[in-house]
Amino acid sequence: MIRARLNPAPAPEIAVKPVVGVLLPLPLAGAYDYKLPPGVNAPRGTLVAAPLGNREMLGVVWGACEGTVGDNRLKTAEPLDGGPRLPAKLCDFIDWVADYTLNPPGAILAMALRSRGAFEPETKRIAYVRGSVTPPRMSEARSRALEIAGDGLARSVTGLAEDANVSAAVVRGLITAGALVPTELPEFSPFAAPDPAHDTPQMLGDQVAAVQTLRGAVAAQKFSAHLLDGVTGSGKTEVYFEAVAEALRGGRQVLILLPEIALTAQFLERFTARFGVRPAEWHSDLSQKDRRRTYRAVMNGEARVVVGARSSLFLPFSELGLVIVDEEHEQAFKQQEGAIYHARDMAVVRARIEDCPIILASATPSLESFVNATSGRYTHLRLTSRHGVAEMPTVQLIDLRHERDAPDVEHKGQWLSPPLRAALERVLGAGEQAMLFLNRRGYAPLTLCEACGHKFTCPHCSAWLVEHKYKKRLACHQCGFALPMPTDCPQCHEKGTLIPCGPGVERVAEEFAAFFPAARYAIASSDMTAHAGPGEMQGALRLFARGEVDVLIGTQIVAKGHHFPHLTLVGVVDADLGGSDGDLRARERTFQLLHQVSGRAGRAEKPGLVLLQTRNPDDAVMQALLKGDRDGFYEQERGFRETYAAPPFGRLAALVISGYDGEAVREIARQLGKAAPSALDVKVWGPTPAFYALLRGQTRERLLVQAAKGVDVQSYLKAWLALVKVPNAVRVAVDVDPVSFF
Ligand code: ADP
Ligand code: ZN
Repeated sequence: MIRARLNPAPAPEIAVKPVVGVLLPLPLAGAYDYKLPPGVNAPRGTLVAAPLGNREMLGVVWGACEGTVGDNRLKTAEPLDGGPRLPAKLCDFIDWVADYTLNPPGAILAMALRSRGAFEPETKRIAYVRGSVTPPRMSEARSRALEIAGDGLARSVTGLAEDANVSAAVVRGLITAGALVPTELPEFSPFAAPDPAHDTPQMLGDQVAAVQTLRGAVAAQKFSAHLLDGVTGSGKTEVYFEAVAEALRGGRQVLILLPEIALTAQFLERFTARFGVRPAEWHSDLSQKDRRRTYRAVMNGEARVVVGARSSLFLPFSELGLVIVDEEHEQAFKQQEGAIYHARDMAVVRARIEDCPIILASATPSLESFVNATSGRYTHLRLTSRHGVAEMPTVQLIDLRHERDAPDVEHKGQWLSPPLRAALERVLGAGEQAMLFLNRRGYAPLTLCEACGHKFTCPHCSAWLVEHKYKKRLACHQCGFALPMPTDCPQCHEKGTLIPCGPGVERVAEEFAAFFPAARYAIASSDMTAHAGPGEMQGALRLFARGEVDVLIGTQIVAKGHHFPHLTLVGVVDADLGGSDGDLRARERTFQLLHQVSGRAGRAEKPGLVLLQTRNPDDAVMQALLKGDRDGFYEQERGFRETYAAPPFGRLAALVISGYDGEAVREIARQLGKAAPSALDVKVWGPTPAFYALLRGQTRERLLVQAAKGVDVQSYLKAWLALVKVPNAVRVAVDVDPVSFF
């Protein structure tokens, strides 16, 4: 239940509107009309308790009445106790995101109201101090308690009982007698203010100019966008921390978006070292209580800096003065479930609405941001060298076509080529650290029956089951379906005929251990997070950071952001894995990932070496990595996109039609395909089965809209979708600016 009471007298400058549109955090078409209690003033953003059916819901006054219900049938929405209100700019942002992504505004509001408890009145803690009354009846226990209470500290009943070594009943007796009097304590606040001057590093080289630009932008308190484009280890974090410091000095709040929670642990330590206190955190792992506290602290301005995942974009900042998106190229910023949106793009929008600067940081920017920066829409701040004595690592290609024929590779099913093994031996001999990277979880991506050719696939998805040897299971990476590892083939019933095909990280680790039995290694893979809690993976990274293991074997989780000073060798087991499978962004992504993982090597005094195992050494991505010619690669990629009018030179939007009834899904996809309005500069492709034609039991079809840059894609989509009636059992999801095509 939401407790409500009448607001104090209305503010005179805002007209009293007896009927208002209230937006509910539900995927409804728009706001619903409600009456306000007589004489109550509730501007946009005011939180209300609104009856809906026989429930009471949390809602937000959104605007003038929409005329959806006759006046006599209107129900009354009561503003919440204390009159909490979402900032008007957050409401504007929610409307903007809803319009752009073609989601109902209530579905976006739901993301901004994730902590309902935050609006309930704060619970005050009651404690007791010595009063002026002396109780008529004194005992040894009573006088001891009063003596302790005489020091003036406020204590709880149990606190005083403990300190005085008396029973709680004694303390309660003294309260009844009036010898102890209650006092209210403020709620304990865990959000100490970060100190911009706590530990200020000296900026060096091209850091100086970057910091100067950013400080100026923050001080101007106006919208501006900046691409902080610096090689890995060049001090991007240190540079944007100076912008954070400037915002703090100016009394503004700061939002720092990180692509994954897994990255936050190291980040929080660095932040604390720079600013003296931890920032507030916001992500899906927070407890209800922390969530409530943080939300409230952001809203009342107590939390000055928030570090969070994409959902923190919807927090009710009241004085936002700077937004930072670190590793801005990461696909993890795209939310694919529910309301589909790109947190990086929406962060730019939020900054524009808040009229504050935004910094996008990356060593491998998205092509979109690169184009924006080189065309002058964003300032382009480049950091071209690594901090201190660290040099960029040397990159070499290992041509697997050649290595396969080498005499010392005994049999297939080996993934570490002789040159890579030799390099590992050197590094381990020198007491340094190495990382082996393979972007594939588990032991083997496919299990096959040698006798009949049966392949194990997921019953709910169009995907192979992946062997996880330690867990002795075959698992679907799409839906989580799993089987205990079978011993016989379910099709031909032969025994001992099942063979693992291809490597995952566990298999690489097994091979590594066979070659280097004395070396200490750990596996870091994101399935460790999914099934064993974040502790296990964080554990592997921490062991490696502390030098307690020599080799870290991992999936893309090891590629990002980490700083390991003793890491001198990075081995990429299969550099071709990203492929160029027709996906518009496959090449860009492969380049970014391999560049990032390469950037882990040689970040301190000792030089780094990166070995890329590939079967396509002449491929443009491999050549760009080999030559360290990032900008050349980007220019080439920009050329391709321009030629094909692909983003950012044209626009894309996808419709994903899904449901459990395959025939119904295909029928709606067909109808949509036929109904697509013809429009100038708009092409519609499909329908075709999606890459995962079956996912979690649902059939999936896709349609793709390709439009020229100036086309209003949203209006086109709205007009189109209005032409086909979609039954409840089929879902049509709109993905504006898709980044993946699964
Ligand atoms: P990036 O974010 O570009 O990968 P980091 O900010 O992590 O780079 O910097 C790499 C390392 O260099 C970190 O240990 C960082 O503390 C250090 N560093 C960078 N710039 C400075 C500086 N001006 N003074 C002191 N240390 C710095
Ligand atoms: Zn599955």
